Amino acid sequence: MSEYSYGIYLNGNWQRGLGPAFQTVNPSQPNVIVGTYDSASKDQIAELVTSSHAAQREWRAIPPLERIARFGKYLAAIEAKSEQLAISITLEQGKPLTEARAEVAKSIAEARVMAGAASHGLGEVFPSARPGIRNLVVRRPRGTIVAISPWNFPILTPMRKLAPALIYGNAIIVKPSEYTPATACLLAEAAKGILPDGLIQIANGAGAIGDMLARAEGIAGITFTGSVATGRRIQAAAANNLAEVSLELGGKNAALINDTPNIPNCLDQVFGAAMMCAGQRCTAISRVIVRRDIADDVVEGLASRARAAVVGDGMAPATAIGPLTNKRQMERVAEMVEAGVTEGARVVSGGRRAAPPGFEGGYFYEPTVLSGVRPNMSVAQNEIFGPVISVLTYDTLDEAFEILNGVEYGLTSSLFSNDNAIIQRFIDQSENGMIHINHGTVPDNHMPFGGVKNSGVGAYSVGPSAANFYLSEHSVYLKSA
Ligand code: NAD
Repeated sequence: MSEYSYGIYLNGNWQRGLGPAFQTVNPSQPNVIVGTYDSASKDQIAELVTSSHAAQREWRAIPPLERIARFGKYLAAIEAKSEQLAISITLEQGKPLTEARAEVAKSIAEARVMAGAASHGLGEVFPSARPGIRNLVVRRPRGTIVAISPWNFPILTPMRKLAPALIYGNAIIVKPSEYTPATACLLAEAAKGILPDGLIQIANGAGAIGDMLARAEGIAGITFTGSVATGRRIQAAAANNLAEVSLELGGKNAALINDTPNIPNCLDQVFGAAMMCAGQRCTAISRVIVRRDIADDVVEGLASRARAAVVGDGMAPATAIGPLTNKRQMERVAEMVEAGVTEGARVVSGGRRAAPPGFEGGYFYEPTVLSGVRPNMSVAQNEIFGPVISVLTYDTLDEAFEILNGVEYGLTSSLFSNDNAIIQRFIDQSENGMIHINHGTVPDNHMPFGGVKNSGVGAYSVGPSAANFYLSEHSVYLKSA
């Protein structure tokens, strides 16, 4: 018997999906099945879209402030289920329960900020070129939004899409990752009796189901978080119906360490930002770019933290670093570290699979620090999405900025320096959507979240910019009859 069993959530009820069945396992103990699911079929996707349109028509007719109040009740219902949601995250995704609890709390906090922001004015008034006319720009809900999410944040990512979609008057169909669907299923169920049936619906399944949804006739927008390769496919699929697209993609994020009055504190920040969620965060620090004269201290400080970190099952209170979420990801991390070593990087700590007692078959990888990494190496260029830090050194600031920006990605970045000129240059020249000075890469609950270059396309999520994706713009010329 598995812990969770779901099909598709259609118009407020669970139904058997008529597409392929699949299972999820606990990444700490892959012989334990956590969930059994079945995917939506093509016909069921069409039914989901039809029922989504109906729910959206009902929802958009409710005055916005009342909608926001109803959404607040929904958030309270989610909050009441916090522990259940956190456990579902740890069981399928693997992260330590403390991190899963923090993820649930952050999702709710972000959604509350979003709900508050929705009551602010969203339109604009322009002067007219003609007498007796007032010009306005008003914004309206788009309609049915499709949300496709990855496995690293089973509640945070769906909520970042669902909250703005709903409070701005849209309906949403969520396709969670096939590795971690339970949390989104629990999230959708929590709306029963509070929000109109059909407003939040779930289409379970793998990439093929995401593709069908992205091509579905009548959808108004697709919000996607995941890899660059899938993002490209989704953008191409969206061209079919010219749906609005928001893509949040990978990162190869760096901490540039130039000077810091407190190296231990700086390294705590960097190590935490690198290893949280076993490095499977799009905003994880993956590269440390450090001034050559302090590099030895930085490498040894990071390696000693790696050696001390407890790797284990997410439900064990002592665990600092859980497993990778699936076998493929664990193999990928191991292959990438091996490739780095072949290209000349040195393993200072870790560099192999971990086998915590009692969980020997789990997808664990030791927290790893690589030194001697050069900018052209694969471990310096490619997203690893695992507990691995590549350390690169520099002699001049020009070289440091060249390394910082010499990757395809542009998601987030961190600078450690007390030099005002360097800080100003970093704010101006770090080619990233998010820029942190003297701390790690954890974002706030109200700040725009997104990336430039290959890390993202379209409106940023979180905070005020989300409205640009979830609302359409309409220019109004208003004249008395
Ligand atoms: P992925 O791209 O493999 O899958 C993401 C989602 O897309 C899953 O639900 C998957 O089923 C679906 N999918 C796969 N193929 C599809 C297709 N052809 N059409 C439609 N949907 C399809 O990514 P992943 O491995 O689940 O997640 C890891 C990636 O996500 C990393 O690259 C990471 O950096 C990125 N990520 C980015 C952010 C961000 O905000 N920028 C946040 C989290 C994760």
